[in-house]
Amino acid sequence: MLDVAEIQTFEHDVLVIGAGGAGLRAAIECSARGLSTGLMCKSLLGKAHTVMAEGGVAAALGNVDGRDNWKVHFRDTMRGGKFLNQWRMAELHARESPERVRELEEWGAVFDRTRDGLISQRNFGGHRYPRLAHVGDRTGLEIIRTLQDHAIHKGFGVYMECTALQVLLDGSRVAGVLGYWRESGRFVLFRARAVILATGGGGRAWRITSNSWEYSGDGYAMAYEAGADLMDMEFTQFHPTGMVWPPSVRGILVTEGVRGDGGILLNSVRKRFMFDYIPERFAPETAATEEEANRWLAGDKSARRPPELLTRDVVARAITREVNEGRGSPHGGVFLDIASRVPAGMIKKKLPSMYHQFKELAEVDITREPMEVGPTLHYFMGGVRVDPDSQMSTVPGLFAAGEAAAGMHGANRLGGNSLSDLLVFGRLSGIGAVQYVKDLGAVPRVHEDQVRAAVRGATDILNRESGTNPYVTHEQLQELMG
Ligand SMILES: Cc1cc2nc3c(=O)[nH]c(=O)nc-3n(C[C@H](O)[C@H](O)[C@H](O)COP(=O)(O)OP(=O)(O)OC[C@H]3O[C@@H](n4cnc5c(N)ncnc54)[C@H](O)[C@@H]3O)c2cc1C
Repeated sequence: MLDVAEIQTFEHDVLVIGAGGAGLRAAIECSARGLSTGLMCKSLLGKAHTVMAEGGVAAALGNVDGRDNWKVHFRDTMRGGKFLNQWRMAELHARESPERVRELEEWGAVFDRTRDGLISQRNFGGHRYPRLAHVGDRTGLEIIRTLQDHAIHKGFGVYMECTALQVLLDGSRVAGVLGYWRESGRFVLFRARAVILATGGGGRAWRITSNSWEYSGDGYAMAYEAGADLMDMEFTQFHPTGMVWPPSVRGILVTEGVRGDGGILLNSVRKRFMFDYIPERFAPETAATEEEANRWLAGDKSARRPPELLTRDVVARAITREVNEGRGSPHGGVFLDIASRVPAGMIKKKLPSMYHQFKELAEVDITREPMEVGPTLHYFMGGVRVDPDSQMSTVPGLFAAGEAAAGMHGANRLGGNSLSDLLVFGRLSGIGAVQYVKDLGAVPRVHEDQVRAAVRGATDILNRESGTNPYVTHEQLQELMG
């Protein structure tokens, strides 16, 4: 029988699983408030999904258009989410995002600037005013760099290439986590009074996705198995613009910043088709003609926004319809054209990653020719049901933040609202966990039989003679989801 005492063991007040924006921000908060904190991630620090974020972080700073404020941001978020959002989360998010962005700047983040030296903000789908603070099209990289630099001085334990397998319970309360080191395959036990799941989403359940291998829904599974409620799992987001060619890069994201900065969508007969797909509820604020959309782009505040900046669900459906009705591009997408709209130098300055991505992966020069794009699975709105203020799940001591948690975005997330979500709710989950630990009476006990069962569950598959190959199951799942 396995001797649990021989498993390498660490002990913390709080264990944060996941080192993306949500996990780092949560760990910073727990540590700053005096708790012993551990942060584990299944790949290297800095390799989380957050680093891939391109377009920007949404916050009603009002730097580019003074009419913006948190109430308009709240309204846009609720409307984008079809009013199925957890309204209190949407309120907290809209109110607190500007402070979190300014805090990042204090910690050393260098955002692009307006002519007056303020943090610049760009347009994105569904946002009434220019709202996305950005660093070219590499915003996530700057956010992760800043959070990591700041975190290093907080003195918490970091466990890299360490995969969490199961949340351990004492009765109904959290007592720790069992994981394993990816390099050696050896098990590792964390005793913890509270656990924060910041494990991101599950996009790898689809074949065509902008998500990396890490997005396998581990947090949802661990929460569910620990008895926590999940909600809105049917709400997944297709980003309208992923690469469609060559096949090896199908699904890789083409940031919404391309449309925010003036890019337009065209079908096979070079018609700007989005004017045909304006939903009634968005009609009062969407340009009805090219002439008006062009005036808006030139800065005319009386003009309405181009239809390419409708919410992601609307644009993704429109593209799918164009393709299904035979008006798609040669490789099954549509054309995204910025070359004929924005000077080459400006494209390279504002969208450097997109320029290199297409040049290197598809041999397309986006300053001269249009891109081919189509929908790609991008984001999970659903996830662990949490209390909006503390981010605690329905299991005492188990918290969730970022893409692992549900509620904030309703049925459809607005671009840029994830990075701000990570900062706002990463922090709030940290505060929630600290409060929970302080109020906790007896220290929860890790039960050896549970650890043994978890080890058995992880190793059984290696010891069996027959049964389904998990890689085949994954393939079948991707086929089914597509
Ligand atoms: C290409 C791309 C561009 C994007 N652009 C934007 C944008 O411009 N603006 C915006 O707001 N949003 C954007 N998003 C969405 C946003 O980046 C993500 O939703 C967000 O970064 C998720 O952050 P997170 O902290 O919840 O998770 P992540 O950053 O993905 O971190 C998850 C962490 O959990 C760890 N982990 C997972 N499972 C386990 C396990 N079992 N054990 C241990 N560790 C585990 C991973 O190793 C990782 O460290 C973009 C997404 C993509 C893919």
